[in-house]
Amino acid sequence: MKRILMTLFIISMLSGCNADKPVSQTIFAMDTVMEITAYTDTETLTEAINEINRLDSIWSASKKDSFVYKLNKDKTADADKDTLSLLNTEKEIFTISEGAFDPTVYPVVEEWGFISKDFHVPDEAVIQKLLKNVDFDKVTIQGNKVSLENKNASLDMGAAAKGYTSQKITDLFREKGVSSALVALGGNIQALGTKPDGSLWRIGIQDPDSEGYIGVVDVADKAVVTSGGYQRFFEENGVTYHHIINPKTGYPAGSGLVSATIVSSNGTKADCLSTAVFVMGLEKAAEMWQKSSDFAMILVDENKKIYVTEDIADNFTCETDFEIIRKEG
Ligand code: ADP
Ligand code: MG
Repeated sequence: MKRILMTLFIISMLSGCNADKPVSQTIFAMDTVMEITAYTDTETLTEAINEINRLDSIWSASKKDSFVYKLNKDKTADADKDTLSLLNTEKEIFTISEGAFDPTVYPVVEEWGFISKDFHVPDEAVIQKLLKNVDFDKVTIQGNKVSLENKNASLDMGAAAKGYTSQKITDLFREKGVSSALVALGGNIQALGTKPDGSLWRIGIQDPDSEGYIGVVDVADKAVVTSGGYQRFFEENGVTYHHIINPKTGYPAGSGLVSATIVSSNGTKADCLSTAVFVMGLEKAAEMWQKSSDFAMILVDENKKIYVTEDIADNFTCETDFEIIRKEG
């Protein structure tokens, strides 16, 4: 329902544009509803859709001929250019997040039932055993050969694939001379250029507690990616468990944040970072942001307090007060 509302929100913004009609298509890929809207021809749109499906078939953890499936089964597999590029960005975010972002947490995600949808709280002993296999440093890349040094390890691209894909699609549109498009892959939104009338794209940031928005961010040429515990979860004995796992504990991240939004011109980084920041929590995320210059954050904590980094504050509109995180020194 929330996703449908997001789509309607975007469409209503588009209908306010007084340029030529955009082409638009909705598909289901990477386990989510995707809506691509671009001021281009249907041929270019079809090319973009084909590319999404191609990347989905490489990175699906369940499709038997995918790269990820082969890697997890054989512990080694040859990667294509896109996969190498994705893995390199993942390595970078694994490092700067001090392991909060770690695709090898996958066996733990599976154990909680988030892949099979057979949800349950695992035994503590099982979690501890699985955690021994979690370490992205033990995923090695030599040439185009990717190997899992740890023979019980496996990984998935769930936290980064949509971000890489939105980046790839906006790059493809740009190369074709498209100057205005909105790529919405579930909660991953990437804007190409501005709206045709030159105004900024208005992206709603979902309210974790309702079907509305906590605010709106105005952007051009940026990805806006949100990770939140409200997206995929189950309840057992009155406790809610969500799908973003702290790789240090094996349990759903409980950092005090209920949602983490990253705004960046790099869609791949934005997706990795939204997951990382959700795990890290406010303080550690702010420290990481202090040392970086290529992303901004909009964070919501358990008390619904909103924190916005100064590099996006002027573009963020919200009905309630929010605290601005500033660069030190
Ligand atoms: P979504 O894909 O639901 O929008 P995210 O981008 O935050 O949300 O990715 C969550 C997915 O990433 C999970 O479904 C799981 O497959 C995987 N994952 C869970 N925890 C982590 C983590 N700490 N680091 C990397 N990947 C994770
Ligand atoms: Mg992510």
